[in-house]
Amino acid sequence: MSCSLSSTLMLVIYSFPSSLLLLLSCLSPRKAAVKLEKSEEKNEPEKLSSGEKAEEKEKKKSEKGVESANQGQYDPSKAHYHPIDDACWRRGQRVPYLAVARTFEKIEEDSGRLRNIETLSNLLRSVILLSPEDLLCCVYLCLNQLGPAYQGLELGTGETVLMKAVAQATGRQLDKIKAEAQEKGDLGLVAESSRSNQRMMFAPANLTAVGVFTKLKEIGSMSGNSAMNKKIDIIKGLFVACRFSEARYIVRSLAGKLRIGLAEQSVLAALSQAVCLSPPAAEFPPAVIDAGKVMSTESRRAWLEEKALILKQTYCEMPNYDVIIPVLLKDGIDELPHHCRLTPGVPLRPMLAHPTKGVGEVMKRFDEAAFTCEYKYDGERAQIHIVENGEVRIFSRNQEDNTSKYPDITSRIPQVKRESVRSCVLDAEAVAWDREKKQIQPFQVLTTRKRKDVDASEIKVQVCVYAFDLLYLNGESLVREPLSKRRALLRESFVEKEGEFVFARSLDSDNTETIAEFLEQSIRDSCEGLMVKTLEKDATYEIAKRSHNWLKLKKDYLEGVGDTVDLCVVGAYLGKGKRAGSYGGFLLACYDEDNEEFQSVCKIGTGFKDEDLEQHYNFLKEHILPKPRPYYRVDQSAEPDVWLDAVQVWEVKCADLSLSPVYKAAMGLVDPEKGISLRFPRFLRVRDDKKPEDATTGAQIADLYRKQQQIQNQGEKTDLEDYY
Ligand code: ATP
Repeated sequence: MSCSLSSTLMLVIYSFPSSLLLLLSCLSPRKAAVKLEKSEEKNEPEKLSSGEKAEEKEKKKSEKGVESANQGQYDPSKAHYHPIDDACWRRGQRVPYLAVARTFEKIEEDSGRLRNIETLSNLLRSVILLSPEDLLCCVYLCLNQLGPAYQGLELGTGETVLMKAVAQATGRQLDKIKAEAQEKGDLGLVAESSRSNQRMMFAPANLTAVGVFTKLKEIGSMSGNSAMNKKIDIIKGLFVACRFSEARYIVRSLAGKLRIGLAEQSVLAALSQAVCLSPPAAEFPPAVIDAGKVMSTESRRAWLEEKALILKQTYCEMPNYDVIIPVLLKDGIDELPHHCRLTPGVPLRPMLAHPTKGVGEVMKRFDEAAFTCEYKYDGERAQIHIVENGEVRIFSRNQEDNTSKYPDITSRIPQVKRESVRSCVLDAEAVAWDREKKQIQPFQVLTTRKRKDVDASEIKVQVCVYAFDLLYLNGESLVREPLSKRRALLRESFVEKEGEFVFARSLDSDNTETIAEFLEQSIRDSCEGLMVKTLEKDATYEIAKRSHNWLKLKKDYLEGVGDTVDLCVVGAYLGKGKRAGSYGGFLLACYDEDNEEFQSVCKIGTGFKDEDLEQHYNFLKEHILPKPRPYYRVDQSAEPDVWLDAVQVWEVKCADLSLSPVYKAAMGLVDPEKGISLRFPRFLRVRDDKKPEDATTGAQIADLYRKQQQIQNQGEKTDLEDYY
């Protein structure tokens, strides 16, 4: 029996127990069972007699039973985990999906970042030693990605499809599923509990990690209305085989939100920890099971951190696990930089800057280092790649492929590059440009441009590219070269064309007044301020972490609190009076990278136009949660009327920051007991280009607070370096 046929039969069994009984009574149960057994026998060795076969089958069945029960108990968070003895499968077998689901359960239960890295690394150690060919799909399952993010393969199956599949697979009514999902706020949990209500006639084969991943990929690649029923069929096929918590995570994966509080940086840390502690080995049992065992806690930590940095750095230059994981398995972590290099066509992480509080601070920071100030253009980051074959690709700040958004840029690149350039990666800002007035247009104008599949002849909003860096040229990565050299190569390799391709305007000076004038000029020229960058010393292109080598100096830093902050909406308060019937205020949170949690930072109720409030209400009411996520840190006294899923980031400006016994942002960083809150916050805009985990961090809030204190205490001598 083919796989799909068997899953269909199982589905029939699963979904319509009564109709199945009818069907079976026609067929006679024995016949039906014999039919199934026959198909299972296909792979049995021929030589066995029927008695032996039965015995073998019994043995297998009982082994399977024990295994199944063991798998339900699998605990990768166990102390002194042994990657072979504590695994719930054997060498050469495919990784059971249940092992992955159990790992997710453990991670979801625990909010400690380091413990969760350890838990995930334990699963991955077992995978490396027992089933290394499954490492790639396990990592993708943990990240809930179908492939490299930049390839844009997305899950995000619509709720309607998922609910229909749950309903059909369990024989429950769609309305009941809907109501329960509304109540529990998690269709995954509904699927999990619905599943256990069902009786099964024949146990379908257990799910494997690779099996689930392949199905997810299949679903991800389907589009259009006609795909809906096919998707539902595949999902049903998965559901009937689900055990324990598997259905919960399959549903969440399909919905595109795993929501166990596992950020990509933690997955990278766990992966590097796993390959370091239990290195892939050709022999079995392997000679090394735990390389960290002989080390002291401190040296183990330092060693693992050092190795993790190799992986993180490599990942920034080559964000593709399809390339990285085979190298990790074959050559080991130290070899990564030699095999996985920056490659035109593959977007790398963009270098990010730190906010500052004015020219004086810049001067102190760059006291003796040579630096340059560039206009900070207000548009969209464009990483422009010229691939060896001449193809031009454009990527966004988040490594999305924007090539089809900018056919105008793509076609002008060959005209502005010099002949010597065969391949390169440029860092630039695409800014809306008024051709008649020959001037920059505000960012808002750029946002009116179509996002995909733009037809060059229909473009209304023109853009000018302001190039500010060169990261790769003719086969050589330049990220480890100082900016002075990268900038010189950039200027040698391209020619300017007014209104189309221009080098970012810059000024190399260490005179405070000249810089302040340049800042004023940048604002008059419709820019946001300046980017201040080191030129020689500590001037490499830093991608694995937010760098201090680039500082942002915005005009509004000079008033109020330095930078604006980007915060996530996690709750809402019901409106009164004029705002009755919608939300009148919102609870905002910053994102704490260390603990992977959203920490409350303020209530916000000002800065909204009426249409903003209406828009927020319509959008956010779709994201209501019955209770806060376990990774929300909110004091009881600030509890909102409705909890919201952290899905949207808002840019907010405030008058100042203060220590607070109520809000949890940066708790423990400035004061052991108090957090930090924003005072008089004002809503500026929604940041669609930022994910919740890209929100301002607790550490950044602490930084802003300290800087504000420092300015308030002028006269008191403080060492700036403490803050960097
Ligand atoms: P971040 O990107 O640092 O998280 P953000 O998205 O709020 O923060 P800003 O802080 O406003 O952006 O500034 C950084 C962005 O400024 C860069 O990502 C880039 O798109 C843009 N930019 C404009 N001009 C320059 C320049 N000369 N050098 C570097 N970046 C520039």
